[in-house]
Amino acid sequence: MKITGIRFERTTLELDPPFCPNWDPVPRKKFNATLTIIETDGGVVGYGAGDDMGGFDGYEKYFIGKDLFDIQEHVRCLETITFHAGRYWPIEAAIWDAIGKAQKTSVAQLFGGATTSIPAYASTGAVMNPIERAASARLIRDAGFKAMKIRVPQSDLALGIQTLGAIRDAVGNDLELMVDLNQAWRMPGDTRRPLDLVDAMRFVDAAADHGVYWVEEPLPMEDIDGLKRLRGRGVRIAGGEMMRTEHEILNLIENDALDVIQADVVLAAGLEKSRVIAALAHSRNHMFTPHTWSNGYGLVANLHVTAGIGGAPFIEFPYDPPTWDVDRRDFLMEKPLTVGKDGLLHVPAGPGFGVEPNWKFFKSSVA
Ligand SMILES: [Mg+2]
Repeated sequence: MKITGIRFERTTLELDPPFCPNWDPVPRKKFNATLTIIETDGGVVGYGAGDDMGGFDGYEKYFIGKDLFDIQEHVRCLETITFHAGRYWPIEAAIWDAIGKAQKTSVAQLFGGATTSIPAYASTGAVMNPIERAASARLIRDAGFKAMKIRVPQSDLALGIQTLGAIRDAVGNDLELMVDLNQAWRMPGDTRRPLDLVDAMRFVDAAADHGVYWVEEPLPMEDIDGLKRLRGRGVRIAGGEMMRTEHEILNLIENDALDVIQADVVLAAGLEKSRVIAALAHSRNHMFTPHTWSNGYGLVANLHVTAGIGGAPFIEFPYDPPTWDVDRRDFLMEKPLTVGKDGLLHVPAGPGFGVEPNWKFFKSSVA
């Protein structure tokens, strides 16, 4: 079966009220998303999303006419392009969706089929005051989640510790708690200096007192020595979501810099290479559970790969009502992914990713 076409459909969801994530100094009034479409001569069409795919024009020729199933060649080709350009892993995601459809099986099965569901953690994005966030934690617990992640602004670490205390007062130990400090990378134009080791160490020690499950991106990923010194203090250290290559991620694993490896399969090193990353993380007794913040298609790709590989204690489920709900997150898809009262996120049964685009948001549609 040959790849006959690569197309992109770009769309925008207006956000009113805006979403104000901790990692972006600019409130978000729009949510842009790009659907990557792989067409074949075998009648199957694959879809993926993540990167906006800007600058990809001209690279289609390296895929069109090639066999859909030559995944190693496609991955190697994307790696050569990544050196020069963007994070074009949605191409690989869409190819896997098409392969799954051609073989009438789910991508999770193609990645090993280790499990069909993973406990979800409600991954919040905004910064709230401790009273508001404690109320949100109650709602998240009552919705069925067994874990949640909060954001702490680097300018007010004390607020984060107060918030952890308020959440524990509100829900006790009903929820595992994670904290994301967002110190590993910056949005364009955000020139703030990151936290240093002393501040990060004080925060991690305080988080340990609240039984936090992991602290995420407390330092830049380049500070391997600093990250190593944060480990072993009673809280797992997580990171690696936006690394650009397999080798950067393997460097973190080989240096035992992190307890939890979070390379996003559609933004970091791709889906196939996540098998390598996860296997090496597991061989060193570290966890692999990827970042999933992009859109519904990004979440579902990470879910399939993670469930197929197995071993993840939780999967990230971006969810922060009222400004980040499943309808906003998954607007590219016909139906949003939801978490039930059991706190589990179930892998759509397939074929492929088991989800279809919501064509009403696009100007044109696939025949
Ligand atoms: Mg993060």
